Amino acid sequence: MRMVEIIAAKRDGRALTTAEIEWVVQGYAAGEIPDYQMAALAMAIVLRGMDDRETADLTMAMARSGDMLDLHDVAPLTVDKHSTGGVGDKTTLVLAPMVAAVGLPVAKMSGRGLGFSGGTIDKLESIPGFRANLSAEEFRRAVREPGLVVAAQSGDLAPADKKLYALRDVTATVESIPLIAASVMSKKLAAGADCIVLDVKYGRGAFMHTLDDARQLARTMVAIGRHAGRKVTAVISSMQQPLGFAVGNALEVREAVAALRDSGPSDLVELCLVLGSELVCMAGLRDDPDTARALLVEALSSGAAWEKFRAMVANQGGDVTTLDHPDRLPNAPVQVDLAAPRAGFVTAIDGQTLGFVVNALGGGRARKEDTIDHSVGLVLRAKVGARVAAGDPLVTIHAARQSDVDAVAERLANAYTIHDTPPPPLPLVEEIIR
Ligand code: URA
Repeated sequence: MRMVEIIAAKRDGRALTTAEIEWVVQGYAAGEIPDYQMAALAMAIVLRGMDDRETADLTMAMARSGDMLDLHDVAPLTVDKHSTGGVGDKTTLVLAPMVAAVGLPVAKMSGRGLGFSGGTIDKLESIPGFRANLSAEEFRRAVREPGLVVAAQSGDLAPADKKLYALRDVTATVESIPLIAASVMSKKLAAGADCIVLDVKYGRGAFMHTLDDARQLARTMVAIGRHAGRKVTAVISSMQQPLGFAVGNALEVREAVAALRDSGPSDLVELCLVLGSELVCMAGLRDDPDTARALLVEALSSGAAWEKFRAMVANQGGDVTTLDHPDRLPNAPVQVDLAAPRAGFVTAIDGQTLGFVVNALGGGRARKEDTIDHSVGLVLRAKVGARVAAGDPLVTIHAARQSDVDAVAERLANAYTIHDTPPPPLPLVEEIIR
């Protein structure tokens, strides 16, 4: 087979065969297909799409590009969660310890920042010493004890997705239902969990801008997971504005710590309770979402979820004193408020622009090899529906230097819409596909 012919076939709208997809994935994982050809194919897939069979083939080929873990010897049942990517989405940091605290071992493989969205691994790596690169054996040990692991893709688990994910991040090839579905589900299938909840986001701060596209993505992923013998539920949630107040790696860890200490933003906590209840029910610990929710609320208010998070961070080498004293997490030297240009109600916040602003401040990557600045980001001071007076702070910019603030200020100001009348309330959870 020749890669150039496969790229041309997809460019011209032909469905790729199972054999072609396997050949591409194996060749790319093995380093035999260069990034430039893979980037061209990814762009052809963004523009031309893939049918269900191709998407399932791509998922399975990427899942099988490394080890496929079977965790049943370490835990009879494990759970996992994945988000399709959003802005200010620190859900995993709160949800995973909550469900681990009620006795469900969490085996989670996460990604780094992708496009304008943040990545759980980048967030966790703002904790000094935290080690996300675990071998398959370390991953299994952590599932047994402390019963909670959040790891980056290693060379062993879904290595094809690891490479493709980093390539898509910097080649504008993220927004594609087949590429997102295959990326998410290959990681989930390789990591071995029995019950998986998917947080499928839609809106300006998500890769799916419409509810219809989010539904299609959700259904595609649920079908792939079920076909592979896993229990899968998808929650379609709104990214019409960032989740919580913090956007940026260390800032989001601080907000997650606050939530685990029972003083988090209400939208973040609510979303974690909805997603967590799905896992508790799928795992058979409770029969209905209401009693499942009560169990999770107790895990949060008793401090059990917080203790689980500390145990996970310690187990993966992180300095837990920075969690006990979050002011010791990386802090940006320059913090400047952006003021409302007029009085009124905030009616829209463009999450995608906020995500790109955080990247421009150094919180994300422009090239694969870039290192990121964990300290930078944004803290929203007014969310959609808030009433502001002219000059009130809309957002605080955390930057490495004043010139970075100056470079992003206008773009950031344009991300806010202020009107004289209040907007209708934004939904948080739109639909659950079981
Ligand atoms: N999360 C992933 O793991 N992959 C994507 O493509 C998008 C979100």
